[in-house]
Amino acid sequence: MAIETVNPYNNKSVKKFDELSEKELENKIATADKAFSSWKNSSFSERSKLLNKVASLMKEKKKELAELITLEMGKLIAQSEGEIDMCISVYEYYAENAEEFLKDKDVEVKDGKAFIRNSPIGIILGVMPWNYPFNQVARMAAPNIMAGNVIAIKHASNVPQCAKAIEDLFLEAGAPEGIYSNLFLSSKKIAKMAEDKRIAGMSLTGSEGAGSSLAEAAGKNLKKSVLELGGSDAFIVLEDADLEKAVKNAVTGRFGNMGQACTSSKRIIVVDKIADEFLKKFKEKLVGMKVGDPMDETTEVGPLSTEEAAEKIEKQVNETVKAGAKIVIGGKRIDREGAFFEPTILTDIKKGMTAYHEEIFGPVASFYRVKDENEAIELANDSSFGLGGSVFSENIERAIDVASKIDTGMVFINEHTASRPDLPFGGTKRSGYGRELSALGIEEFVNKKLIRVS
Ligand code: NAP
Repeated sequence: MAIETVNPYNNKSVKKFDELSEKELENKIATADKAFSSWKNSSFSERSKLLNKVASLMKEKKKELAELITLEMGKLIAQSEGEIDMCISVYEYYAENAEEFLKDKDVEVKDGKAFIRNSPIGIILGVMPWNYPFNQVARMAAPNIMAGNVIAIKHASNVPQCAKAIEDLFLEAGAPEGIYSNLFLSSKKIAKMAEDKRIAGMSLTGSEGAGSSLAEAAGKNLKKSVLELGGSDAFIVLEDADLEKAVKNAVTGRFGNMGQACTSSKRIIVVDKIADEFLKKFKEKLVGMKVGDPMDETTEVGPLSTEEAAEKIEKQVNETVKAGAKIVIGGKRIDREGAFFEPTILTDIKKGMTAYHEEIFGPVASFYRVKDENEAIELANDSSFGLGGSVFSENIERAIDVASKIDTGMVFINEHTASRPDLPFGGTKRSGYGRELSALGIEEFVNKKLIRVS
């Protein structure tokens, strides 16, 4: 894939970037390695100062950074600004809490003293996706920089200006060169980088294929890895749910970011008793939405990230419909230039159909009607993914019981899955392993060193 900004609103190329040469890459890694040798001994207050400065620069430049997101991957401008706000909160959260999270932890022993000291391990290589180009990076960079590690990022090829802007923010905030490095690289180079002794750990957010390729390379070289991969979250609505709230959450949960979130509410599972009413209200919310330029504040339906993404959604929907599923609303490309696809609801999806098994990374809700709670749980778990999920019921004890039976890394009750600095984020099954955010996120790439005093 070329490293290039292509505006998905009109599919026009805006700017191209060259891949790093072997020599340039070596320089970047050598600089990062040198930076680590002093950063690992820096104080928490020095690290906090840096992240707080990055956060304050992001506040100042919020509009221009948000516009870069919208230009490169088509996110509606208000949601791009929301992403920058989210990032600011991630940097500030770790600036404030990292020292407490990483403080020495006593180990109970019968004699003498023992404790765990968390030590940084080196350069952490991040491979990042385009769907939240600033926030995915913040989730990985903030905890690691606070832990004393340094960061090298290979970002998605379609968001090079966002990638460069993050590196510039760190430099402008006063980060010594090499604390945060942007690497313009083809994904083909990643496996080879795992062999480099200076790279201590690897973290990838992206698809299953990319994750398994990175994990293979990391494993071969005995490097720790974290994988945040795809999902097909179930959104279960029980008969005692607050229907209005559930419908509202289904709309934002499925169609926010044009459905391009790992934790989008991709499978809406509603018990029979309220299924018709839910579907009617859900459909009504999608009628007459304003399609247009994502830079325009009044637009409600913008483009997908790329033309290829829109083509893939079209193929997945066509295959599913051909196999017998029905379209309630939407179902096709929008007849205009750019990577547009209609907000869509599909019903009558059966095992064996594309939408039943695959992640649909766009504005397509798969609607399932089930007999009862047990059937809802069974269907929710009949997925190779295990990222997030939701349960809607006014009986919280019941909702918690259902949540405990769902095989995912996260379940939200009476809200769609969301990402917050203070909540751990991550999945199980083919959605990956490891956690980001909260206290758990800062523990992934540290050496939990035992110090024993006899
Ligand atoms: P992708 O193709 O896997 O790309 C993600 C990143 O991986 C990009 O930087 C890409 O580089 C790189 N990459 C691709 N193939 C690779 C390989 N073989 N080895 C090493 N790196 C490789 O993912 P996408 O389709 O752009 O993003 C959507 C996917 O990400 C969805 O499945 C979504 O659910 C998942 N996601 C998960 C989370 C989470 O937290 N669990 C969050 C966001 C997204 P190039 O751009 O150069 O190809």
